[in-house]
Amino acid sequence: MKLATYTRDGGAPKAALVVDDVVVDIATATGGALPTSLLEVLAVDDWHDRLSAVLADGPAPHHRLDEVRLLTPIARPGKILAAAGNYQAHIDEGGGTKVDPTVRTPRIFIKPSSSLVGPDDPVVIPAVSEEVDWELELAVVIGRGGRDIPRESALDHVAGYTIMNDVSARSMSWGVVERETHAWDGFFDWLVGKWVDTFAPTGPWIVTADEIPDPHDLRLTFELNGEVWQDASTGTMIFDCADLIAFISRFTVLEPGDIIATGTPAGVGVAVGRYLAPGDEMVGRIEGIGTLRTPVVGP
Ligand code: ZN
Repeated sequence: MKLATYTRDGGAPKAALVVDDVVVDIATATGGALPTSLLEVLAVDDWHDRLSAVLADGPAPHHRLDEVRLLTPIARPGKILAAAGNYQAHIDEGGGTKVDPTVRTPRIFIKPSSSLVGPDDPVVIPAVSEEVDWELELAVVIGRGGRDIPRESALDHVAGYTIMNDVSARSMSWGVVERETHAWDGFFDWLVGKWVDTFAPTGPWIVTADEIPDPHDLRLTFELNGEVWQDASTGTMIFDCADLIAFISRFTVLEPGDIIATGTPAGVGVAVGRYLAPGDEMVGRIEGIGTLRTPVVGP
């Protein structure tokens, strides 16, 4: 099933099931047994059974999809974690070397939840960077939380999967004419370049894990203005979804609604010096999940 968050006529955001071309309001359809916030729905132990029952019961009160606006599925997750350098072909295009996962660990960073935007929401190029790039990624949404989750059972903790564009400023222009240089400046600018408002378009919905038996056999494509830039299988990620969940849960608790972006394959703009500009349109697709459209606007 597809889990989404929608607004209608400017009203408060509400959790919904998307069924074909309609949205079924989750709180209404369950008689209030499940809450109106998708983040809170995922924290209810038997949410999946309750929603399956709604679907089995037949037609529920609904709105047509074209009468509502879909928002980012989870507006304020506890945290968004992301894997850097998790596809060899992406590392290669950046001039990196061959990764041997037996002697390396995943490289994990965090994006703030204020960077989330939903389907059709624009990415805003900030005044502090002229080199803004795309990174289309499969994103894992945590259902059942935990610490020290074993790799073998890690996927049991996944509520579902969605699409995230880990938009990244490749350089920052702070306007400091004679900025002192320090060895770590580049690393901190790299991090800040991940944190900008609107730099995490996510959606259009979450497809529950039962409908994606193998998250490592999905075709991921990214188009800029109709031209294909990224086209890869999620099977080529270095540390897979289970590896990432197991690794991350060794140092932080994973909670319902937490999002893990699993890294981007080859085909980003920085490899050839093509950066996003106002008027661009990004379209990300992941097989079995859907399509995420994102326009680009100026500061
Ligand atoms: Zn990324």
